[in-house]
Amino acid sequence: MSALPPPRRSEWNGLQLYQTPESPVAIDLSDNTSRFGVPPAALAVLRGAEDEWIARYPSGYGEPLKHALAAYAGVRPEQIVTGCGSDDVLDSAVRAFARPGETLACLAPTFPMPVRFAQLNGLRVRETRVGPDGSFDPSALLVGDPAIVYLCSPNNPTGACLDGDAVDRVLAHATGVVILDEAYAEFAGTSRTAAAPALGRVLSVRTLSKAFGLAGLRVGWAAGHEALVRDVELSRGPYTVNALAERAAAAALARDVDWMRARVAESLAARAALEAGLRALGLEPLPSHANFVLVPCAGAPALAARLRERGLGVRAFANLPGYGDALRLHASPPAEQDRALALLKEALA
Ligand SMILES: *Cc1c(COP(=O)(O)O)cnc(C)c1O
Repeated sequence: MSALPPPRRSEWNGLQLYQTPESPVAIDLSDNTSRFGVPPAALAVLRGAEDEWIARYPSGYGEPLKHALAAYAGVRPEQIVTGCGSDDVLDSAVRAFARPGETLACLAPTFPMPVRFAQLNGLRVRETRVGPDGSFDPSALLVGDPAIVYLCSPNNPTGACLDGDAVDRVLAHATGVVILDEAYAEFAGTSRTAAAPALGRVLSVRTLSKAFGLAGLRVGWAAGHEALVRDVELSRGPYTVNALAERAAAAALARDVDWMRARVAESLAARAALEAGLRALGLEPLPSHANFVLVPCAGAPALAARLRERGLGVRAFANLPGYGDALRLHASPPAEQDRALALLKEALA
């Protein structure tokens, strides 16, 4: 008896797994995580983990963590939703706010996960170009009244904060939900998170994976109007932030915010040194408000492959619309970063 082939949703044909590095490298500057240490209070909680935390379920919707995040963000706990990384929050939000066949509008280039979540949910995706200075045309973005507008500021992979007036126009005129991904807000020193709940249809999405140095714990969150947040929670389901992560994250927010700010200052100083080092190699990094830079560079994919052989991981982009081939790499402490620049110099020669 021959088995039937495994069934598959036809609209998923052509979708691939997200590309993650195949093997570890000595110096990995490819994913914009922090190389500046781990919050001490979070580490202490993890080291002191109790059997009960592991044997029992975590809190249903991260209630203790929501209180810590609310205090950090300047909003109320019921205006916060958490998730297993902000990717989980974005996935839940895309599912919550658009039906199959409706449109998600975003800028290009930008963070690819929301586009992928849109495709998985049968949405159409419409893209509008964003300039290296964060400028874009808000009316072009809002053509056809998309169910969801996704904006990322500072924008990954370009690094710039989006033009504030253009963002204001989107917030004023969008009829659907505006997802504002502010994963790098701590580096930019500015965010719209505290303002989001009063705006009604705006979800400010944040993460502990970047400035807080907790990417391995997978804790993301968002702030918005209570009703908006409740629908993201409905879509997300219970227990998605694990018991160790919720406790460690709450401890970091309660006791390590000053520590985090000091690490952000180190990271920004390192980014300035990285920009200078890249310019000394004849490259022209784009202006950044985050912990990484995008560097237009012909043949970036082949160059990244040569760097990987030498033990340096960077993110390569082929033919980004309006930018061409480019490398993205994030700041790291001086010894590691100097080594990375030396490897880059060798590979360019
Ligand atoms: C890294 C990143 C995220 C994902 O963060 P997690 O919380 O680790 O899932 C979300 N948005 C942007 C723009 C990012 O660069």
